Amino acid sequence: MIPYGRQHITQADVDAVVEVLRSDFLTQGPAVPRFEQAVAGHCGAAHAVAVNSATSALHIACLALDLGPGDLLWTSPVTFVASANCGLYCGADVDFVDIDPRTYNLSAGALAQKLAAAERAGRLPKIVVPVHLTGQSCDMAAIHELSKRYGFRIIEDASHAVGGRYRGEPVGNCRYSDITVFSFHPVKIITTAEGGMALTQDAALAARMEMLRSHGITRDAAKMTRMDGPWYYEQQLLGFNYRLTDLQAALGLSQMLRLDEYVARRHEIAARYDALLADLPVTTPWQHPDGYSAFHLYVIRVEEGAENERRRRVFEGLRARGIGVNVHYIPVHTQPYYEQLGFVPGDFPVAEDYYAEAISLPMYPAMTEADQDRVVAALGEALGEAGT
Ligand SMILES: *Cc1c(COP(=O)(O)O)cnc(C)c1O
Repeated sequence: MIPYGRQHITQADVDAVVEVLRSDFLTQGPAVPRFEQAVAGHCGAAHAVAVNSATSALHIACLALDLGPGDLLWTSPVTFVASANCGLYCGADVDFVDIDPRTYNLSAGALAQKLAAAERAGRLPKIVVPVHLTGQSCDMAAIHELSKRYGFRIIEDASHAVGGRYRGEPVGNCRYSDITVFSFHPVKIITTAEGGMALTQDAALAARMEMLRSHGITRDAAKMTRMDGPWYYEQQLLGFNYRLTDLQAALGLSQMLRLDEYVARRHEIAARYDALLADLPVTTPWQHPDGYSAFHLYVIRVEEGAENERRRRVFEGLRARGIGVNVHYIPVHTQPYYEQLGFVPGDFPVAEDYYAEAISLPMYPAMTEADQDRVVAALGEALGEAGT
């Protein structure tokens, strides 16, 4: 089976992890701040807080921005469930903004309309979470303009987008947001096995997220309300154990050295797919000129037939031929958990149309041209069999 995504691990990665295993600190040692500095430096962010997943990063980002009961968080329906769940963790309500039909990202136009309606209804969101789907940045300048007009905060879910750029600058520099979150799950651009990071230019937000990642505890005497003695630490917030280990940080640091190479390789694979798929009846990914995608995913659309079975048949034909295709994503509002909160199919029609037709083809840096040729041949056959 050719997988849809896969990590790339070198001997240097193995050596970096083994070195930590033989060192004094398996966790809470020097590798974590080194990894944070490497990512922050690459992105041009002043602060980075490494955690054990992007899900944890989204959670502490929401808490740092004071999201709580009675508040509202909006995100895209076409994302992994974590982009929305972070709002529910904080006791807030979640709603969605429909997507752009070309980039599949949260639509800035739909956001503007929904904000105008929400203002009239007297219930504006506190946080908007744009998700850079497939690694392509959302229209952050437009979303940022709207945040000034309507007073919401912005968390970029850049789980797909480390190594990508927007208007010539790295995603993660938070020029148009309060906080940017990355994921280091093995299918993503670089990996720490499990892991994530929250980047910000705001020192106070970074300090709160650092505390929230480790039980809400501070060891900084300057921040304490009293000082019992040299052993003393103080819990000031209700935090969690969301820490990344030094083993993981060492892997991430080693992977960071190849980030640009990985993204460049993903662009080569995407360009070759574009060329090889030109004569097949599929829609290839459209790239907005403002962005340089990290190309976490290469999503094609297969036009649905009258019976709404065509995408499923193509998907099954590919899987039967050993091609590990996937679908990103089942619209979050159609998940049973969200339907029970009151969402119904039809709420976000552009997202639902996209979902009916999307297939993610395999895409990972070590993919060979022969692998890619097998994917394209199998797709041609599966499309031929699928009928209309
Ligand atoms: C992978 C992913 C997450 C969650 O990442 P974890 O590190 O697995 O917690 C969140 N949002 C999006 C868009 C993702 O793709």
